[in-house]
Amino acid sequence: MPYTGRFAPSPTGALHAGSLVAALASWLDARAHGGRWLVRIEDVDLPRCVPGADERILAQLAACGLRPDEDPVWQSRRGALYQAALDRLVAAGRAYPCACSRKDIEQSLLAAGHPRERHGELVYPGTCRHGLHGRQARAWRFLAEGAAPVEWTDRRLGPQTQDVAREVGDFVLRRADGLWAYQLAVVVDDADQGITDVVRGEDLADNTARQVLLQRALGLPTPRYLHTPLVLGPNGEKLSKQNGATPLDVADPLARLREAGAALGLRVEAGGVADWLAAATRAWVATIGA
Ligand code: GLU
Repeated sequence: MPYTGRFAPSPTGALHAGSLVAALASWLDARAHGGRWLVRIEDVDLPRCVPGADERILAQLAACGLRPDEDPVWQSRRGALYQAALDRLVAAGRAYPCACSRKDIEQSLLAAGHPRERHGELVYPGTCRHGLHGRQARAWRFLAEGAAPVEWTDRRLGPQTQDVAREVGDFVLRRADGLWAYQLAVVVDDADQGITDVVRGEDLADNTARQVLLQRALGLPTPRYLHTPLVLGPNGEKLSKQNGATPLDVADPLARLREAGAALGLRVEAGGVADWLAAATRAWVATIGA
């Protein structure tokens, strides 16, 4: 399979210093492998998207010399693909409708005496796993119960393992508001676009086991994964749009690239954007390997 990488920003705001690190790393890895680099706009969670942020991100990337090898795709236009994947999972008995509200889930966890929570998400107790019992379907869930722990190897973090059934539970594929969940959309798109290598921020590493389970259930290949170091803000928290990361000012793209490179452990000095990117690609091969 020829190397194909991607950067998959959610247009909930402009690119910031942290997202440039992920974009640059995925671009460098693609170039280091002589591969293609794609951009996918992950706008499935429409209510959280900011109008115009997609075009702004693409312009910021271009200013830094990071241009995709094909026209970008927008997840909001790909609902038919996600529906087809959900249909296949349902037919295979790996997805089921769920009638529970958050309150229902809280109550049954409380009644069972062991409320389990993970990153603010309740571990679904499986109430609707064997039928809705006359209640109205709201969301669709993946049947993780019964799956063996997932083992995968990250190119930077090394061997990883997660027992999705126990630690995460049956997770949502289509939300009660009708929106597609990130986990399903990302797995369908990575396969549809022939992505061989996912390079993204370390905050997303925890999603990988769920994505591997979905790939297996859908008979799709599992890409290689590399999760990049996070950029921390002044308060020591991960830099994100949620905690007020400022939009990347690309008036001086070389300065922004140098900062992003330093976060990846690449100390590269070169005169212009194109020269810097070429030198950074060589440095990437030397540190992370091709
Ligand atoms: N859209 C996700 C984000 O911006 C990234 C998804 C991915 O790279 O898998 O956080």
